[in-house]
Amino acid sequence: MTLFEKIITREIPADIVFEDDQCLAFRDINPQAPIHVLLVPKRPIPRLGAAAPADHALLGHLLIKAGELAGMLGVGESGFRVVINHGPDGGETVPHLHLHILGGRPLAWPPG
Ligand code: 5GP
Repeated sequence: MTLFEKIITREIPADIVFEDDQCLAFRDINPQAPIHVLLVPKRPIPRLGAAAPADHALLGHLLIKAGELAGMLGVGESGFRVVINHGPDGGETVPHLHLHILGGRPLAWPPG
């Protein structure tokens, strides 16, 4: 079971901000911005590059929800960033696909 599966099953506590039948969103334990929420699919996919054509609808759902959540969290107008880290160079540390939703301050580009 991945760490995020344990959060989904409430085995590990988290500050949950949204849930539906396909996904869960909760605040990152080590926030990198005033708003830093992780959006994870309940059906675990290890990482973006491991997604299959059968995951089409789920990936679309996650992107739509990320945009809605940003609005819900108050950064729809000011702006936000959605990040997916894949593999060691991408900075992935938890092998369960997750979208970082970051906002509440100006975010630098390019990323470090
Ligand atoms: P990654 O580096 O894999 O893209 O992102 C993993 C994220 O999960 C990191 O931002 C990290 O702070 C967050 N994280 C790790 N462990 C926990 C935890 O137990 N609870 C919560 N809420 N976030 C966690």
